[in-house]
Amino acid sequence: MSLSGKTAIITGSNSGIGLGVARELAKAGANVVLNSFTDRDEDHALAAEISKETGTSARYIKADMSKGEECRALIEKAGACDILVNNAGIQHVAPVDQFPVEKWDAIIAINMNSTFHTMAAALPMMRKAGWGRIVNIASAHGLTASPFKAAYVAAKHGVVGMTKTVALETAQEPITCNAICPGYVLTPLVEAQIPGTMKEYNMSREDVIKNVMLERQPSKEFATVEQLGGTAIFLCSDAAAQITGTTISVDGGWTAL
Ligand code: NAD
Repeated sequence: MSLSGKTAIITGSNSGIGLGVARELAKAGANVVLNSFTDRDEDHALAAEISKETGTSARYIKADMSKGEECRALIEKAGACDILVNNAGIQHVAPVDQFPVEKWDAIIAINMNSTFHTMAAALPMMRKAGWGRIVNIASAHGLTASPFKAAYVAAKHGVVGMTKTVALETAQEPITCNAICPGYVLTPLVEAQIPGTMKEYNMSREDVIKNVMLERQPSKEFATVEQLGGTAIFLCSDAAAQITGTTISVDGGWTAL
């Protein structure tokens, strides 16, 4: 599958899954736009490194996905958007009655609302180009729930619902909109929730990984960012032209339980 000549914007892509997906899309020939809310030399260096490795054009554009106008500005600044990967996301783990309101607001804004804003800005560009692929990185938590993750589960279910709606709105156009639902992938986001989960369950780090995280992942293995990149490339391929409004789980069997 060659994505040569296509511009792919990946939100939240200076780390973890976003960066992994961006690398895979660039290897497949896409010109990628990396993004996060920081504007450090190392952010721009990541784009330069991808360009050098793949011979494609890679850029880094700062935009804070918690702010609607910045989500839309990211798409405008990129100037083209054939492939949109909504990936930016954060997590916070707490019982619902103790869930900090500012964390709730931030998770809903970054994990869910940003997807609405970027899709709204990107769709006119895709229509003009006569082709488009939207890949929303939801989660197994977009299909099922876990305790202590009220905001995250709400946001990811919202992303799955929004994905179906946009697919219906674009069904008769050469544009598809799907969600990938990963199980656990060992990224900085997952690392960061280990201490909170250790506290909630009163467990060691090893027990949280084995008995809480991978307990629900029947394969007993983390999914990898390369596997998620490969799934995104498949959704961009001609073979997936009639796949729209659905979810693809990359979760080692979690949602089969
Ligand atoms: P990560 O922390 O490594 O990456 C998150 C990315 O989002 C980073 O690049 C970060 O800079 C960016 N980001 C955070 N706040 C932002 C903001 N306000 N504006 C712009 N960018 C922002 O985490 P990850 O595990 O790679 O997660 C990426 C996505 O995958 C998230 O949406 C997450 O919910 C989802 N996901 C992750 C897992 C997993 O196990 N790691 C499982 C299912 C779904």
